[in-house]
Amino acid sequence: MIPADRQRAGPRRGPVPENTPPGPQKPPTSAGGVTCDVWHSREGWKPGGTVAGISYNGMPISEAEAMTRFIIPSGVKNEGHLGTLLRAVVFSAERHRNQRRKGVDGSPYINHPLEVAEMLANVAGVQDLNVLIAAVLHDTIEDTKTTSRELEEAFGSQVRLLVEEVTDDKSLPKPERKRLQIEHAPLLSPSAKLIKLADKVSNVRDIADRPPADWTVERRREYLDWATRVVAGCRGVSETLEREFDNAMRRARQLIPSAD
Ligand code: ZN
Repeated sequence: MIPADRQRAGPRRGPVPENTPPGPQKPPTSAGGVTCDVWHSREGWKPGGTVAGISYNGMPISEAEAMTRFIIPSGVKNEGHLGTLLRAVVFSAERHRNQRRKGVDGSPYINHPLEVAEMLANVAGVQDLNVLIAAVLHDTIEDTKTTSRELEEAFGSQVRLLVEEVTDDKSLPKPERKRLQIEHAPLLSPSAKLIKLADKVSNVRDIADRPPADWTVERRREYLDWATRVVAGCRGVSETLEREFDNAMRRARQLIPSAD
């Protein structure tokens, strides 16, 4: 169904002329499946509503692509890169709101994805917004009720795919999941390897400085051995981040007493 304001727009369906005052992006020719505001070349932003099918310049595009490229969720207009990143931070904080890290100090869970994203930006020098957003969201599918579809609708298919790449299959038993992380690491995309690396740096630091109260020294050392093997499959994407991991690992091994 096409909403009344789209019908009024009549046959105007083609690309926007060069001299059209810019909206946030080029307008969709029709919008669908999501409640959103739609940019009209003559009328500016208008409430869109939910309609069937999306196309752009006659080419069908996914809802998620429309969300990220042409349509902005209601109430969010002219969202820039920082705005999208902060929306991901708020989304992740909201999803992890009742979770704490396993460590003795029980720090808020959100500290972890924020540390991972910050490390990617400031240690690895990552500037790709989708990678930083995926880092902020990297545990939402695995550890909260967030679905792939939700991530795709809110942040686009690239973010969704990256988060999926670093998500364990929770239907499998824990030892199998841990084995698969080692096996799959070399097959990950470079961006997913970066997230995985920063994730392990954050976890190794936690195991060294604030381990779960019920973890024995042996279990902590086993974790370090396992993380070393996962990271071995992620190397070659960022020298600085790999050095950060090596430093965190060296420090952890010094701090954690030998089991014998
Ligand atoms: Zn994580």
